[in-house]
Amino acid sequence: MYDIAIVGGGVTGTAIARELSKYNLQTVLIEKESDVSTGASKANSGIVHGGYVGKAGTLKGELCIKGNKAFKKLDSELNFGFRRPGALVIGFNEQDKKQLEKIYENALAVGHSEDDIEIIDYDKIKSLEPNINEEVEIAFYCHSVGVASPYEMVVALAENAVDNGVELKLSSEVTNINNQEDHFEIITKKQNYKSRFLINAAGTGSEKVASYAGADNFSINPRRGQYILFGKDQADLVEKVIFQTPTPETKGVLVTTTYHGNFMIGPNSEEIDKPENIDTTIEELENIIETARKSIPDFNLKRALTTFAGVRASSDRDDFIIEESRVSNFINVAGIDSPGLTAAPAIAEKVVKILENSGLKLEKNQDFNPKREPIIKIKDENFDGKIDAKDPEKNIICRCETVTEAEILDALNRDITIKTADAIKRRTRAGMGNCQANFCRSRVKRLIADYHNCKPEDVKVRDEAEKPQRVSINKIRQIEK
Ligand SMILES: Cc1cc2nc3c(=O)[nH]c(=O)nc-3n(C[C@H](O)[C@H](O)[C@H](O)COP(=O)(O)OP(=O)(O)OC[C@H]3O[C@@H](n4cnc5c(N)ncnc54)[C@H](O)[C@@H]3O)c2cc1C
Repeated sequence: MYDIAIVGGGVTGTAIARELSKYNLQTVLIEKESDVSTGASKANSGIVHGGYVGKAGTLKGELCIKGNKAFKKLDSELNFGFRRPGALVIGFNEQDKKQLEKIYENALAVGHSEDDIEIIDYDKIKSLEPNINEEVEIAFYCHSVGVASPYEMVVALAENAVDNGVELKLSSEVTNINNQEDHFEIITKKQNYKSRFLINAAGTGSEKVASYAGADNFSINPRRGQYILFGKDQADLVEKVIFQTPTPETKGVLVTTTYHGNFMIGPNSEEIDKPENIDTTIEELENIIETARKSIPDFNLKRALTTFAGVRASSDRDDFIIEESRVSNFINVAGIDSPGLTAAPAIAEKVVKILENSGLKLEKNQDFNPKREPIIKIKDENFDGKIDAKDPEKNIICRCETVTEAEILDALNRDITIKTADAIKRRTRAGMGNCQANFCRSRVKRLIADYHNCKPEDVKVRDEAEKPQRVSINKIRQIEK
């Protein structure tokens, strides 16, 4: 019998698991895929939002601000990759100016300090962002906006939770829940579990999971967002995260450099029928390109690397749903769309409070270890690795991202079992570079196969469920400016 079962190994579920591992509790984290971070948490903008557009009195507003403040410490403990470049919301006319002034007032109302936010004019914008559209007139500047590596964050949270005693059950889709008098019986495709409390953090699957226990009083309306990711050679085009002034018609798209230095544009927002649909479409990508050029006109489509999409678990409530449901001890943490990545640390703290109010006894885990070592090692100009070197520390497996055999072995030897090449990619970046795994895939598969004592051809790139139809990158490269 567990004290708590968490369903869903995205940023929400793993942040809750790690928070609970600070206490003496028996916690199990149940995830349907063969790795953590395969849902929305792996395919998003990676922005640690400021919270300036959040409405006062909403969970999104409150938890975004709190979550943002937690990132520096969290990253210093877990080493997933985070920096704070700040963000500009740019405007082009009088109407935008009025809107940006409203954003400034809202930011003050929801708790930003005057040191953190300012309205800036063309000259200052241009000095901060030399490649910005010449027609820009005004911008709202928020200094505290950050950029994180989202999948590394989830891996780090999960590794640290497991290190502190949480049990992680992968490839374990929850298919039913039986409500017993004093516990839940959780039926999964692999094994059944018993738990006194159940936390539903199943993202786009949360409506279904809630329905198994009769705890569904919301609906999830999945919204897809598509992106184009470019090489690192265009990282210098943009220093901060550039947003456009939201209008009733559109929120625009963002232009940014990811934590690891790839130029990136997107996302759009479109309703879709099936939450597992992470296809990309040429019509939407063309719109994204055109809209992104209003911020940074001169990026080179020939340097595009890949397209991808993520699906937001938006709900019919227009806010996060974080509450004990009508079924006692069943807590829904659902409708966690944007800014869920930012809010995750604060969501986790809120869930622990809800559990405490519902009668869970919290006793501090004196052995809690907040630290998790990074997998990726920074290589300076003295790094003398080469392909096929004998020493794993120097043997380069992925030449585009300079990933060594030692880094891949480190990932494999940690407590979370790795089965797919993409799980290695999310942890080490092997396969994320210019050749998009053409060079390293077979080498990565061989290392996974050696570790599990199986054949490289038996190692999959990713779980069967994820088979997106992506617009070919050649099609993007052929679009003329
Ligand atoms: C396009 C896009 C852009 C975004 N940009 C940002 C941003 O810049 N900043 C920000 O703060 N937020 C952003 N977000 C929001 C953020 O990504 C999400 O709020 C966050 O990742 C949600 O995490 P989650 O753990 O709730 O869901 P998920 O990451 O989707 O995890 C849910 C997990 O539950 C599992 N699951 C589902 N059903 C079952 C079942 N029956 N049994 C077992 N497991 C199950 C799934 O496999 C999945 O791993 C963005 C989202 C999208 C899609």
